[in-house]
Amino acid sequence: MKITEKLQRQRTKEPSKPTFSFEFFVPKTLQGVQNLYDRMDRMYLTNPQFIDITWNAGGKVSMNNANTNDLIHTCQSVLGLETCMHLTCTNMPVEKIDEALQKAYDSGCQNILALRGDPPVVDEKAQQSNALKYDGFNYAKDLVKHIRDKYGDYFCIGVAAYPEGHPEENNVDILIDYLEEKVNAGADFIITQMFYDTDSFIEWCGKVRAKGIDIPIIPGIMPIMSYDSFLRRAKWCQINIPKFFLDKLDPVKEDDQAVRLLGTDLVVEMCQKLLDSGYVTHLHMYTMNLEKGSLIILEKLKIIPPLHLTTLTTVNQFAISTEH
Ligand code: FAD
Repeated sequence: MKITEKLQRQRTKEPSKPTFSFEFFVPKTLQGVQNLYDRMDRMYLTNPQFIDITWNAGGKVSMNNANTNDLIHTCQSVLGLETCMHLTCTNMPVEKIDEALQKAYDSGCQNILALRGDPPVVDEKAQQSNALKYDGFNYAKDLVKHIRDKYGDYFCIGVAAYPEGHPEENNVDILIDYLEEKVNAGADFIITQMFYDTDSFIEWCGKVRAKGIDIPIIPGIMPIMSYDSFLRRAKWCQINIPKFFLDKLDPVKEDDQAVRLLGTDLVVEMCQKLLDSGYVTHLHMYTMNLEKGSLIILEKLKIIPPLHLTTLTTVNQFAISTEH
């Protein structure tokens, strides 16, 4: 079923109840894949609207591309989970894109997050000639248009957005213009880059709505699992960390457990503010293939029933498994 229909149906049934979803990536090993299926099955019991699986980063054509389709197939048609498949288009021949879309279609998956992806690091000249070689899929909007041309309304199409700027374009207003192009090409919903600066996110939502973009905005929520990974990811995504996050976390940075507990409270506070803003009714959890970080946040927000997770105190219990 389409994500937008599911969200609409849930809003009609229980208007004040926020919804949520879980993002996973393709594990590197077969054992990791098996562990992930078990984890997804458990996490699905909490009733997310959908789960999504990332497409392999870097724009490379490799075995992992097939694995995204495999995971989508198992989750959607074997386990019966509602799925959304990420698909990148840079440096991808159109035949590969069509093959991936057809496999998703055959698996009964009706949701695609259409992305450009990050081109492999090569010199600019080679990059340009590659992009041209592959049928003009230079931007995500080209992929959105391609999917619409080929499949009409069959797929519900999501696109990415960057409330604090993208590494290649830090002007947020220009990025909203590009977002509008993706919406005009046929996008149905938006999932954002992770962020911790709630005020700037809310301001950005106001700008998006003022532009006339009225499709659902789904914020990407990244749980805080360790001080190093928190700083590293924020730097990688070039997002602002509010001073009060650092004031709380810096003094306990050597203590992973304390960072997780305090970080969870900070993210819970942030999510509550997002839900209260009126712009957001759905939270998209970047699980990093871990279970409890996301579940505890949802439990503390009272979006899912108590799972007695908050009483867990050891690092292993919190993380359950890091096997990828
Ligand atoms: P686009 O919207 O095409 O934008 C890419 C760049 O081009 C931006 O800098 C933009 O400013 C510029 N641009 C866009 N339109 C124009 C235009 N008309 N003229 C000039 N410049 C333009 N990556 C993966 O590899 N796999 C994944 O599974 C994955 N999942 C993601 C999920 C989310 C929610 C997000 C936020 C990102 C994800 N990414 C993933 C990362 C994403 O692929 C990169 O951030 C990529 O650099 C941009 O992708 P995009 O779809 O936003 O591209």
